[in-house]
Amino acid sequence: MSIFKKGSKAYSIFNQKCPRCHEADLFTNKLSSMKGVFSMPHRCPNCNQDFIIEPGFYWGSMYVAYALSSGIMLSGFAILFFLFDLELKLAFGIVLGIALLLYGWIFRLSRAVWINLHVHYKAPAIP
Ligand SMILES: [Zn+2]
Repeated sequence: MSIFKKGSKAYSIFNQKCPRCHEADLFTNKLSSMKGVFSMPHRCPNCNQDFIIEPGFYWGSMYVAYALSSGIMLSGFAILFFLFDLELKLAFGIVLGIALLLYGWIFRLSRAVWINLHVHYKAPAIP
C-alpha cells in the first residue's frame, strides 16, 4: 500500500482531508482561492469528527509550523548562499520572501499534521 493512498496519514495531510474519514476537506476553501486561508469547519460534514477538539487545540501545531518553516528556510538559504553563491542579504531576502509566500500552505500543513497526530483513520463500516 502506497503511503499516499486513502487510509494513510500522508493522504489526509497532503490532501488536507478529515483525519478520520478522509472524505471531507479540513479547510473551508481551497488554498488557491486565497479566501479564508485559516477557516475550518467546526466538524466534519461527513463523519461529524470534531476538528477543534478542545480550546487552543492548534497551539501545538505551531511547533510543527516552526519545524517546517525553519527546515525550508535553512535549506533554502544554504542552497542560495553556498551553491548559487548569492550575497548574504540577497539570499536572506529571497528566503524571507519564499517563507511569506508559503505562509498559508505551512499553516494548513501543520494543522493537518497536528490533527493527524491525535485522530486516526477509521474505515467506513461495510453495511
Ligand atoms: Zn470526516
